[in-house]
Amino acid sequence: MTAEAIILRPTGAALIARALQQLGVKVIFGLVGIPVVQIAEEAIALGIRFIAFRNEQAASYAATAYGYLTGRPGVCLVVGGPGVLHAMPGIGNSSINAFPMLLLAGSCETHLVTKGAFQELDSISLLTPHTKIAVRPSLDSISQLLTHAYRSSWYGRAGTGFVDLPADVIQGKAEEAASETRIVPVAPRAGSDPEKLAKVAKLLMSAQAPLVVVGKGAAYAQAETAIRQLIDQTDIPFLPTPMGKGVLPDSHPSNTSSARSTALKGADVVLILGARINWILHFGDEPKWSSNVKLIQVDISAEEIGKNNGDAEHGIVGDINVVVPQLTALLQGWKYDTASLYIQALQVSKLKNEANAAKTAKIEKSPMGYHQVFDIIKNTLHRLSPPEDGNVVYVSEGANTMDISRSVFPVEHPRLRMDAGTHATMGVGLGYAIAAHAAYNYPNPEARTGPSTSSKKVVCLEGDSAFGFSMAEVETMARYNMDILVFVVNNGGIYHGDSKDSDEWLKLQENTKQGQNGGLRSTSLGWEVGYEKMAEMCGGKGFLVRTPEELATATEEGFKATVPVVVNIIIESGSAKKLEFAWQKSGA
Ligand code: ADP
Ligand code: MG
Repeated sequence: MTAEAIILRPTGAALIARALQQLGVKVIFGLVGIPVVQIAEEAIALGIRFIAFRNEQAASYAATAYGYLTGRPGVCLVVGGPGVLHAMPGIGNSSINAFPMLLLAGSCETHLVTKGAFQELDSISLLTPHTKIAVRPSLDSISQLLTHAYRSSWYGRAGTGFVDLPADVIQGKAEEAASETRIVPVAPRAGSDPEKLAKVAKLLMSAQAPLVVVGKGAAYAQAETAIRQLIDQTDIPFLPTPMGKGVLPDSHPSNTSSARSTALKGADVVLILGARINWILHFGDEPKWSSNVKLIQVDISAEEIGKNNGDAEHGIVGDINVVVPQLTALLQGWKYDTASLYIQALQVSKLKNEANAAKTAKIEKSPMGYHQVFDIIKNTLHRLSPPEDGNVVYVSEGANTMDISRSVFPVEHPRLRMDAGTHATMGVGLGYAIAAHAAYNYPNPEARTGPSTSSKKVVCLEGDSAFGFSMAEVETMARYNMDILVFVVNNGGIYHGDSKDSDEWLKLQENTKQGQNGGLRSTSLGWEVGYEKMAEMCGGKGFLVRTPEELATATEEGFKATVPVVVNIIIESGSAKKLEFAWQKSGA
């Protein structure tokens, strides 16, 4: 071999970047160091966008969200050892929410393993139980194993594919200039047997009180067209889960969200499309559900069927996009009688709950409460961008902030609302927002929803506690010119917070300094912390607001801004449920 040929031999890093490009990867989320920085640079040279975060945790969350929004694995690149440890939250998030992620991490040189090498960690052993596949390629098998990990994370129920990349593989020179990577097509879709489908269709037609539950699996499967047809044809009422919201428009007349308890309790046959019967659906148990409810669970994962309430008889293993059109065809000519007692009960409950919500939204206080805050933000945003356009993506986290805002902000199109998810994970918000911005706005957006092809505004509704988990990522937003609008609903603490007024807070803090019992509570956060400065310090815009007028102005300016914006809303600290403990009651 001539000297020139040796120089032209590609490095492992170049082969990795090339394999990613051939797999169709457009964006990598990550945080580099030696030697994975070479992979990132090779990828950038190939036109792949690299979004560099301030902490691997947020980067890994972003990759999972990108997987959810685009329906293809999101890619995350981190260094070995501590980088892998910091990215583990993303692995948990991917697996618990069934979002596909390809995680690539560096590791020490193969010949230094067990010697105490730089950032040495046996990540294969660590991650094998938590990933769908964990592999370590050699220079010869980079393309093959990367493809395998990508496909494994994606096919079947989604999760994480992990690739451990030793420094000698990244930096080594490969023998062959190009090992072609095979394209991985969308997974083949599974259907069900006709006999089972006919039985289930009959059961639905015989129901007194049928209900369709739409989960985030249906949103991930992009099954909106099929489900819309089923509902429009049959008039069966439906209930979305928190992230199933938008698969069918919230404004659809068959939506029972505002009569949730009545819908669950009264249903006798429930068709469940892409939702596990876990805590979010009260395990399918009494008293939230009727004791003799029949569940028709449609899921791509056979292990899921009948898991909690034992009703596997009517379960269907299959892809929603195949099974639902089959069912719709079998139900042709039949419509649910919307004069039924069930529908009447739902109507009564809807009217009552909606009237209560409208009343609560009108309550004015100073400082403002949650409902008033969300009412102002909603009205301002709707004026600037009506929900039917689908141009706003909501990301929401924080105990009260997420729970209350969920019912306030309607979504009319799928995958426009992300929240803490199955693990109720606080800290996902800013990573999710960056992922949503990248998925919906980058020149050739990989995620699509709604009628409009113009760019979408990402709006984060964050509690002050939730914001704190990854607030450094505001700088990431600024660096990449992401015009994300972040609201921090600031009550000075977790749940209720501690500080009814600043005097009390100062007194408690003084007690803490002096080592006295009765110092700051575990739920306390800083009093009126200037979170808006997070945006100001890196070229964004910050607003500190206390009044309805200030909030409306900040929302409008924030919506129109072309830089990241943090609106710090000081709200009444006692407006959420106060946690009481025995030692406080006894005055200890
Ligand atoms: P939610 O949080 O909305 O209740 P879950 O995350 O609990 O939803 O459940 C989503 C379910 O959807 C998972 O069990 C997953 O296996 C399933 N799923 C994902 N994609 C599909 C698909 N294409 N067809 C059928 N089921 C799917
Ligand atoms: Mg708070």
